[in-house]
Amino acid sequence: MDAMRMPVLFIGHGSPMNAIADNTWSRAFARLAAELPTPKAILAVSAHWFVDGVQTTGDHRPETIHDFGGFPQALFDMRYPAPGSPELARQVVDLLGAERASVSLDWGLDHGTWSVLHWLRPQADLPVVQLSLDRRLAPGEHVALGRALAPLRDEGVLILASGNVTHNLRDAMARARQPEPETPPWAASFDADVAAALVQRDADWLAAALETEAGRHSHPSPDHYLPVLYAAAAADGVDAVTFPVAGFDLGSLSMRAALYAP
Ligand code: ZN
Repeated sequence: MDAMRMPVLFIGHGSPMNAIADNTWSRAFARLAAELPTPKAILAVSAHWFVDGVQTTGDHRPETIHDFGGFPQALFDMRYPAPGSPELARQVVDLLGAERASVSLDWGLDHGTWSVLHWLRPQADLPVVQLSLDRRLAPGEHVALGRALAPLRDEGVLILASGNVTHNLRDAMARARQPEPETPPWAASFDADVAAALVQRDADWLAAALETEAGRHSHPSPDHYLPVLYAAAAADGVDAVTFPVAGFDLGSLSMRAALYAP
């Protein structure tokens, strides 16, 4: 049975509170759900699994991981009880090369994945596998891994990359105390430049972007940026790119989402 070719989605997840709050962002995630075809499975590349090594979650029943502190109990009570897919986890390892990738039973679904899937697929009925971000790799190597994942799209797998186009939490938290947080020029320009590069499929610019001044301001640590590279790399020139969510939370946190639809 031929599967329908799936889009690739990058989503800016922002605060964990978006999982339970009724706000601009959670409403945008819920609207986006209506635009997506139903995949056979979801491969989530989350900013919050930033470790040594390329790993996939191999559990039949991945745990919901609450990888944050200082939030209301309701957030810790959240569960996203989607099944896993050991088969897909192994297939991803095969695509990326067993010499560098492996299946892990030590993680699960972190909030980079479940805080958005809660809105995109509230039924939690589709198999979800997470892929880690190997913190030892250079951006260009992440692009190569993203390209290697592209064939999954033809097997009905939705590649969901979850991070933020700008993510300087110290700056955002300082702005959160302002009544109407302003967007600083470095965040506005980095967000716009990334959007332009995503439209132009400029993987070279995207891979070098963290070395720019705006890139350094936008990402004191690369973890929330790297998922952008996976989405861009798994897309091709035929896909139509749209930005179903855009704007800033807390002044400097870009909530931009990018959808590459075949
Ligand atoms: Zn995050």
